[in-house]
Formats: sequence, structure tokens, C-alpha cells
Amino acid sequence: MSSSSPKSPSSSSRPLLPYGWDADWETAFAPYAAQGLVAGRVVRVDRGLCDVVTPGGTVRADTEFVVPRDPMKVVCTGDWVAVDPEGGDPRFVRTLLPRRTAFVRSTSSKRSDGQILAANVDHAVVAVSLAVELDLGRVERFLALAWESGAQPVVVLSKADLVPDPVTLAHLVQDVETAAPGVPVLTVSALHGDGLDVLRALIGSGTAVLLGQSGAGKSTLANALVGADVMDVRAARDVDGKGRHTTTTRNLLPLSGGGVLIDTPGLRGVGLFDAEAGVGQVFSEIEELAARCRFHDCSHESEPGCAVAAAVDSGELSVRRLESYRKLVRENQWIVAKTDARLRAEIRKDWKRKGAEGRAAMQAKRGHWA
Ligand code: GDP
Ligand code: ZN
Repeated sequence: MSSSSPKSPSSSSRPLLPYGWDADWETAFAPYAAQGLVAGRVVRVDRGLCDVVTPGGTVRADTEFVVPRDPMKVVCTGDWVAVDPEGGDPRFVRTLLPRRTAFVRSTSSKRSDGQILAANVDHAVVAVSLAVELDLGRVERFLALAWESGAQPVVVLSKADLVPDPVTLAHLVQDVETAAPGVPVLTVSALHGDGLDVLRALIGSGTAVLLGQSGAGKSTLANALVGADVMDVRAARDVDGKGRHTTTTRNLLPLSGGGVLIDTPGLRGVGLFDAEAGVGQVFSEIEELAARCRFHDCSHESEPGCAVAAAVDSGELSVRRLESYRKLVRENQWIVAKTDARLRAEIRKDWKRKGAEGRAAMQAKRGHWA
């Protein structure tokens, strides 16, 4: 490809490359460039105003003209926008480019609104501490959130220096791999610098976020990836977890090895939200098995011809994993129901219908087999 190819970012937007600008964004932005607008990425949002990195530096911009009715379309960290050229402080955001991915938290308010936490994330790094016993259910929960966003998950088993025996370490990796189909599982010691290069290579292009429990080593990883102390690392003795947070006011941090990290307070605290599609992806092998069950609405409890139950019997599928799947499916339904009264009513109706159908079906089967 020649350098004049429209596929390669133009020199004027080159300063945006460390922030994740690429040829596809260039293409999406072209109509606005033609109008003389300036491209930029939102690094922080604060009550209607946002900080936007542009080729000419960071500017303050008002989102008044792009305020949508749908809270999911509110400008957020990671969004690519078009702002006014020169002049005006603040400037105005004129357009929000369509998002590739989005992290959303469903709110527990009466309306079924979500809250958008981060946009255009390519890699969701789930940090899991090797300093404490592995909780695969928790890993699966974070993976569901990750998949749901549209980002590619990566599991990082952190603090690998605390597991010096390579055989033990390999077993831990294997355990996590069974809980994470389609997800790379790495071991990293930020303390010794081990495994960081592999992680850097994986997230070296595009935008990453760090998910995981408090104490999983996210701040330490972030500092290692950014190549500077941008995060407060909790002192080991600070067990209550209070009084520490990101020291940076910017939520978008270019990484020394390429790529950019989004770290927002909201993402840190993210726990539950509706992640039905995400749950399906975490447990893809169960969903594949379920497709082979005799009844398409098989509950895998005691129905005949159940491929899931058969896989558990043969040892191919662990009971732990099936139960974890059920738990997350239930939890997800509950969250959705909590945020949507209409849906809640439908689910209740559906349970009643299923219950009635199930009883009828069992009676019919009994009759049939008798
Ligand atoms: P966060 O809450 O997920 O941001 O976790 P932190 O980055 O604050 O780390 C929690 C604790 O784990 C701190 O005491 C760190 O010093 C420690 N820690 C982080 N990374 C490593 C590592 O690679 N090895 C060891 N041994 N400890 C680590
Ligand atoms: Zn089944």
C-alpha cells in the first residue's frame, strides 16, 4: 500500500495514533473532516463537558449538541468525536462516531436505562490474582462482562511470582482455560516483569481496559504497561481498600508498548449487569451441547435426550461449570427483570407457561412411553 492510500491515517491525525486512531476511524471521520471539523477522543467526561484529545492538543468541549434521549448514547470516555475547529472555550462536540464496542452498566433505577462506562474497547484484560485461591465463578462473571461489551477478553493471572512451581502454575492456567474458551490465558508478574511482553503484544494495538477484583493487581499492571506510576497501588496492609484510587484525572492512557488503556472509576466498580450474550460466550461449549438436546427448551435438569447431562455424566463437562452457568443465567435474568417491570411480568408469565407446559409434556411423555 502506498502512503497516499486512503487506508493509511493522514499525517494531520498522526498525533491521535497513540490514542487508538486507525484507518477505520479515519474512514468513519472523513465526512466530518470534509466539513472542517476536528477529530478527537474523549478522555474524560464531567457533567456535560468533556476533555477531548485532538491533533492540536487536549481541548474542553461541550456536549450540548449531541445530548441524546437514550442514556446509552451519552458521550463517554473512549468515544471518538468531531469537535469545532479553532476558537471557543469550550468548543462543541458536533458528532459522536458510531461505537465499535461499549461497556454498559444497568442501573437499578425504575427505568431500564443503562449507564455507559467506556466506549471502543478492543481488549478486556481480566486480572486474576494468584495470591489467593482461584475463584473460577468470578472469572466467568468478569468474562461475561467482557464478552458482552464486544471486546476480546484476555485473562491475566497476576502475581505469578507467588507460584514458583511451574507444574502448579501450569495446572492453574489449565483450570482457568477450561473456564475461558476462546480466551488467551497469560501469567504475569508485574513485580519481576515476567509475561509483560506477551501481554503488551496482545494489547499493543487498540484500546484495553483492566477488569478484576480489588487487589487483583490492576493498578500495578497499569503502571507497568504505561511505564510510569499513574495509579496508586494499594499498600498490602491497606486491607479495607479505602482511601486509594487513580491519581490521574485522565482516564485514557497511552501505553509504552503501543495501545491505550482506559481506566475509569465506573469500570473499576463494575460488577453485575445484563450480559446475556456475554454469558453465552463464556459458556460456549454448554450452549453448543444444548443445541444438541432433544428439546430445544431443555432445562438440562432431567429431560430425556439431554446432551448437557450426558456430557456431565461422561466427565466432559464439570458440574461446577454447569452450576456456574446456571447461576449467571439466573442472575442475569434477575437483573434484567429488576430494571424492567414489563419484562419482569413477561418472565413471570413465561415461568408459569413453562411450568404448565413442562407438566403437560411430562404427562404426555409418560403416556407415550407407557
Ligand atoms: P488493584 O486493586 O487490582 O489495583 O491491585 P493493586 O495493583 O493495588 O495490587 C494489590 C496488591 O498486590 C499490592 O500490594 C501489590 O503490591 C501486589 N502486587 C501487584 N502485582 C504483584 C506481583 O506481580 N507480584 C506480587 N508479589 N505482588 C503484586
Ligand atoms: Zn439439555
